Amino acid sequence: MSASRKLASFRLPPLPTIGELIKLYNLRAEKQLSQNFLLDLKLTDKIVRQAGNLKNAHVCEVGPGPGGLTRSILNAGVADLVVVEKDSRFIPGLKLLSDAAPGKLRIVHGDILTYRMDRGFAKDVSRPWEEGEKMKRYNLPLQGCEGITRSEKVRKCVSADPPNLHIIGNLPFNVSTPLIIKWLEDMSNRTGPFTFGRTRLTLTFQKEVAERLSASTSSRQRSRLSVMAQYLCQVHNCFTIPGRAFVPKPEVDVGVVHFTPLAQPQIQQPFKLVEKVVRNVFQFRRKYCYRGIEMLFPDACRIELTQEMMQRADVDPSLRPTELTIPHFKALVDAYAHLCASEPSLLSYEHREELQLRHHQKKTKRPADTLMDTTPGP
Ligand code: SAM
Repeated sequence: MSASRKLASFRLPPLPTIGELIKLYNLRAEKQLSQNFLLDLKLTDKIVRQAGNLKNAHVCEVGPGPGGLTRSILNAGVADLVVVEKDSRFIPGLKLLSDAAPGKLRIVHGDILTYRMDRGFAKDVSRPWEEGEKMKRYNLPLQGCEGITRSEKVRKCVSADPPNLHIIGNLPFNVSTPLIIKWLEDMSNRTGPFTFGRTRLTLTFQKEVAERLSASTSSRQRSRLSVMAQYLCQVHNCFTIPGRAFVPKPEVDVGVVHFTPLAQPQIQQPFKLVEKVVRNVFQFRRKYCYRGIEMLFPDACRIELTQEMMQRADVDPSLRPTELTIPHFKALVDAYAHLCASEPSLLSYEHREELQLRHHQKKTKRPADTLMDTTPGP
């Protein structure tokens, strides 16, 4: 039997159930770490299936806890699994799992927010982001192209596959939103997990957040998060897990979301610039979109620059933020970048900061005003 077939047919040996492990190691869920466990292996298998075919894949799991999802990932025939867990109480149970899957499971006791995933896997896991890049590497010893025919090489070059590297996790709710925003920024900069190429993610979120991430134009859930995720990725809201499936039961249902980074982002501007425009547009969700756009500019030139930006972008100012498509946002961000290029001080302008400053000035002025008011007249 070849090595790859051996990997593909791997199954974990009989082990104590997750429930038994929880009892064995006295793993009471910590509210502070948003711990809600999945004990049903059919459900964890279903989550893992959303990631696609994991045979011989490299995987990073976020927050394995007692290891239910970890077992399903290992049973999917992965080559290599790194788990990152913050809570030391889970490490002995994970070691048990590691012994049952020799050479496959690496345990990192640490925080996913600071974990350097770019150092977590060998460089040869990488695949180039786009076809052109792959074509450039065509004559070099391209990983995965050794010993294949010329026509197979050409086919590989044209399809520009993502790497066989996945991030999977039943995330703690208190970490999930900042983490996906961090990873979206990494995606835009091709850093962190995306130094390896278009690393795919399969993650759980609070149901409402999952709906926002995948919401289409004009839907009720369309928000800042929808635009930020969808200009960089293909986002698929796979299915909802009822809260009662978790132990302890959280107050909300949970959505499983799959992300595939696009080879070319739909908006080709720095992440922070896109984020600034999108944030300002959604500041007044129910108003016409030009109201939020006005907030990108200081008082003195607000009306003039808003008009210029809307005209350059050719976007109807009376559309509501939720009605704007990704191409609308692309046109708006490009127009804003153009204005910033001719007036760089706009880049650092933040309406919120101006409001805070005014509020502060008013506050510090008040005692003098009061004094003047109460000073008896001549
Ligand atoms: N994956 C397990 C499951 O499905 O049953 C546990 C899920 S539980 C919702 C979240 C897990 O993430 C917990 O084990 C918790 O200790 C861990 N965790 C919380 N914050 C973390 C962080 N910043 N970095 C790594 N793990 C974290």
